[in-house]
Amino acid sequence: MSEAPKEKPSTHQPEHSNKKKEGGSPQQGGKVLPLVVNDRCVADGCKSKQKRAQFCSEHFVWFKEGLISKHGQKPKDFERKYTQFLAKQKQAA
Ligand SMILES: [Zn+2]
Repeated sequence: MSEAPKEKPSTHQPEHSNKKKEGGSPQQGGKVLPLVVNDRCVADGCKSKQKRAQFCSEHFVWFKEGLISKHGQKPKDFERKYTQFLAKQKQAA
C-alpha cells in the first residue's frame, strides 16, 4: 500500500516582507547643516524630530510626566524621577 500525498499544506512561505521604511524625505543631499534646526526635539541631547509640542514622542511623555521642563531641561533629581517613571511604566504594562 502506498498513499501518494495529494495536497500537502505548504509550511514554507517565501520571504517577501523585508520592505524598508524610509523617513520620507524626497531630497537626497549629502549636506548636513551645522545649525540647530528648530524642528528638533528640545530635550537635552535628543536629535529626534518634533512630534508633539516641542518634543519627540518619547520626550513628550517625559515632559508630561514631569521628567523634563518644557525646554527639555532635566531637573536636579532627574535620575530619581526617571527611576520612578520606569517603575510606573512597568506597573502599567
Ligand atoms: Zn526627544
